[in-house]
Amino acid sequence: MERLWTPWRYDYITGERPPRAKGVPEALNAWLDSRAAADLPDSGDLHCVFCNMIHSVDFAVAQGMRAEEAEKAALIVRRDHNTFLCLNRYPYSTGHVLIVPYQHADSLAGLPLATAQEIIVTAQRVDAMLRQIYNPNGLNFGLNLGEAAGAGVADHLHMHALPRWSGDTNFMTAIAGTRILPETLDVTWAKLRSAFAGMEGASD
Ligand SMILES: [Zn+2]
Repeated sequence: MERLWTPWRYDYITGERPPRAKGVPEALNAWLDSRAAADLPDSGDLHCVFCNMIHSVDFAVAQGMRAEEAEKAALIVRRDHNTFLCLNRYPYSTGHVLIVPYQHADSLAGLPLATAQEIIVTAQRVDAMLRQIYNPNGLNFGLNLGEAAGAGVADHLHMHALPRWSGDTNFMTAIAGTRILPETLDVTWAKLRSAFAGMEGASD
């Protein structure tokens, strides 16, 4: 499935190079260049997009980067106790997000109860946010456990959530295998980030 708005084209437009370690945004490469990473196997590359992402964010914040800046680089919308919410860098539709436990686990059964519960509570909030922001006709929430089930990152469980519109599997998709994504990831990130911040403010 190709997309008219493709990740490689976005990287080309924004001048980003492919990551040195998957999941580590260029702005957070300080982790890979650190002395601590040099002492680890594979120079600190954990070979997991989500583990690398969180590790590089934590390192940047520990070194003094503002959390907002580090999380934006990783497209993280929100961090919670056991899970975090980030944009899918390769979205099927605008607003395609991932709910990810910090724990590197490949099965739902393998997660602690508190983590499993937090995934669902976050999914409830995402449901409300995506409806409010994008006014979709429907939503998909889903877990692909294992490569045979379609998981792109099979060894670190993550829940997909994405808005759907009637006709979004439209003529272009059916005929050309192409989808059109009308919003950049930065814009989606800003919308969701402020929506979550507003919701938390309202519940205090
Ligand atoms: Zn992982």
